[in-house]
Amino acid sequence: MKNIDLKNLTVKKAHDAMIKGEFSASDLAEAYLEQIKKVDPEIHAYLEVYGDVKEQAKKADEKIKAGKATLLTGIPIAVKDNILIKGRIASSASKILEGYKATYDATAISKLKEEGVVFLGRVNMDEFAMGGSTENSAYGVTKNPHDTLRVSGGSSGGSAAAVAMNGALVSLGSDTGGSVRQPASLCGIVGLKPTYGSISRHGLMAMGSSLDQIGPLGKTVTDVEILFNAIKGKDSKDSTSISDKTYLPKKISGKPVIGVPREFLKGPGINPEVLKNFNEALEKFEKLGFKVVDVKLPNISYSLPVYYIVMPAEVSSNMSRFDGVKYGLLKEGKDLMGDYLKSRAEGFGSEVRRRIILGTYVLSAGYYDAYYNRAIALRRLITEDFIKAFNDVDVILTPTAPSPAFKIGEKITDPLQLYLEDIFTVTANLTGMPAISLPSGFTSDSPALPLGIQMTARHGEEELLFNIGKTFLNEL
Ligand code: GLN
Repeated sequence: MKNIDLKNLTVKKAHDAMIKGEFSASDLAEAYLEQIKKVDPEIHAYLEVYGDVKEQAKKADEKIKAGKATLLTGIPIAVKDNILIKGRIASSASKILEGYKATYDATAISKLKEEGVVFLGRVNMDEFAMGGSTENSAYGVTKNPHDTLRVSGGSSGGSAAAVAMNGALVSLGSDTGGSVRQPASLCGIVGLKPTYGSISRHGLMAMGSSLDQIGPLGKTVTDVEILFNAIKGKDSKDSTSISDKTYLPKKISGKPVIGVPREFLKGPGINPEVLKNFNEALEKFEKLGFKVVDVKLPNISYSLPVYYIVMPAEVSSNMSRFDGVKYGLLKEGKDLMGDYLKSRAEGFGSEVRRRIILGTYVLSAGYYDAYYNRAIALRRLITEDFIKAFNDVDVILTPTAPSPAFKIGEKITDPLQLYLEDIFTVTANLTGMPAISLPSGFTSDSPALPLGIQMTARHGEEELLFNIGKTFLNEL
């Protein structure tokens, strides 16, 4: 077996090495399979490692030999368990979909197949992407590679841990309220929630349809950028998808200006180490020549309550398709209604059931105006706050999460504690704006825990996020 330095490997380095013949896609796949075998029994990022990885790699090698390679040919990737790959199991880490095989490819997946990537396997998540720690998976928690007593974050915890443990070069996750960015932050890697619509949602199992986006994760901003560019674009199978030209980037003269909503960061819930690290990141930006100014976002403190009304409302309607008849698990009751009730009661975990109940409540005739309609109105105001703020600044910076990786079991018994984890991330989903999480250092704990900062930009400004991110992480 070839000795490949997986820890320092990037997509470009792997591509160059494969083109030069230093190692083949098969060597690379083998190296990742070995690493997964070594570390995953402890971490549990993977729900399944595919049996045909070597055959996929062989095909990539043929493509490289034929001179048809693109940057992603032969690149080993892990895929969240809620993104469909034809003929393979996709369970959303739920019992109700145990053994369910996808009948078609998600658009993001067909694009990656054209590039000739190597799919290593499907990775763990909170059931139907509801949660922030993978503790809601029906198949066990994914541990944090930096400290196995702690969570990897969620819901795309498997996607983040797979990359952080060098068990995949890049991965795909999904982000409805922070599920790519928060685990990226807790595992010390880069994660992007793109502009709503920029990546087709066709073949992504829906959680909150007005909030969901597939997002790439990797060790570097450049890797995330390469993956994003490969899977973005308008898709006739997703009417909410947009083309590159929908939003035209604003011309910036000079260095971009960074806005910080300082008022919002004063809350008591933020871990002091997170705050300290965030201030150090701001100093670094200033040293790099960026101007850092305060921004006012008057309605931002409503983001979390608004999210926890809009999201369950959409969840409750999206989950209605899982009735035990059309998909997966069927538990027979005494009549058709009995089948539905039994299948859903046994198939769904408690967090999914909680959100269905919350959702039907806020949508019910007597409460619709009081909750759902007010939340929708506030969502608009929050978006307008951001649009207004972007007249004066180019990106808005906050920590990604209010605390570093927490202990397994520490928050799971108190759902509200877990919901508070999402305080900084949900706004980008409510506004549809792109946001990236960048690793920004470590806590003073032993073992040290990764920390992350989050940068949000106007709709369609991913490139700006990548450029600033690369400057911050010395990738240029
Ligand atoms: N942690 C958030 C939640 O529980 C976000 C989930 C997500 O983005 N899928 O809803």
